[in-house]
Amino acid sequence: MSNILELRELSVEFPTRHGTLKALNEVSFSIAAGEVVGVVGESGAGKSLTGAAIIGLLEPPGRVSGGQIMLEGKRIDNLTDEQMRPIRGKQIGAIFQDPLTSLNPLYTVGHQLTETIVTHLPMTWSQARARAIELLEATGIPAARERIDHYPHQFSGGMRQRVVIALALAAEPKLIVADEPTTALDVSIQAQIIELLKKLCREQGAAVMLITHDMGVIAETADRVVVMYAGRVVEIGRVHDVIHSPRHPYTVGLMGSIPSVHEHVERLVQIDGSMPRLTAIPSGCAFHPRCPHVMPRCKSERPELQQVGTTRAACWLQASSEVA
Ligand code: SF4
Repeated sequence: MSNILELRELSVEFPTRHGTLKALNEVSFSIAAGEVVGVVGESGAGKSLTGAAIIGLLEPPGRVSGGQIMLEGKRIDNLTDEQMRPIRGKQIGAIFQDPLTSLNPLYTVGHQLTETIVTHLPMTWSQARARAIELLEATGIPAARERIDHYPHQFSGGMRQRVVIALALAAEPKLIVADEPTTALDVSIQAQIIELLKKLCREQGAAVMLITHDMGVIAETADRVVVMYAGRVVEIGRVHDVIHSPRHPYTVGLMGSIPSVHEHVERLVQIDGSMPRLTAIPSGCAFHPRCPHVMPRCKSERPELQQVGTTRAACWLQASSEVA
């Protein structure tokens, strides 16, 4: 399968008065056509920042300071805002937690959809409007023919997020970056929205980067998972393998936070402490102050990702068990 997105040792930094803060540190992974890759971690892990770097919307003074972002084999991290804008509309679709970020309250959803389509696809306004109705129907909006002329505020939160998905897919992008797309929604609606996103992307052959703090969402949706901690990838592999046999203690901790519907258990394992601030990333393995398995070398030597079974993990524990 060909890669739609490829990150090669992507680093992002923020120059500040007190020195330069490294927010992403050599992040590498790829997403193939039709594949859903979940990027998971607590708040501050760098997952949303990775998404923002890909869509070219890093908040200044944040900037890509190293590595490359390749979209269908072409480098996009060195493009200007002006060069990036058409790519963001046509080749990359974005879905954010709050649908109102993506929708203009002053225009009907039909106007916004139709305009996006005529901007990026060779269609007349009336062809694009017909396509907009199809898209709304595909996302499960009832009575799409009438609702197309409604304004964003006339939709419920769940319905509005469906409109945003329609908008993100309108130009038939190759890559969808979805950042916590269901976090603001009721649990019952979350599953429907995720299922819908997955189905539509599969049908269009789009690659999906699904950013979430929720390992449960990843378990149900993604093909592969990238676990991030303090701006680095600490584990990467197929979802099935990572969930059944997590190799990094941080992943084990995140796994413990999947709520079990059947057993009515909310949290099985707690990870004590919190994600370090960018100004105070611990030496060696950044997870060491919170790790139940910390060893002396963890405090001074940083582990790199290495193959462990079918997955890759950055942890000295794996290195010692491999040697043993
Ligand atoms: Fe824990 Fe050490 Fe592994 Fe880091 S390298 S996760 S501190 S065992």
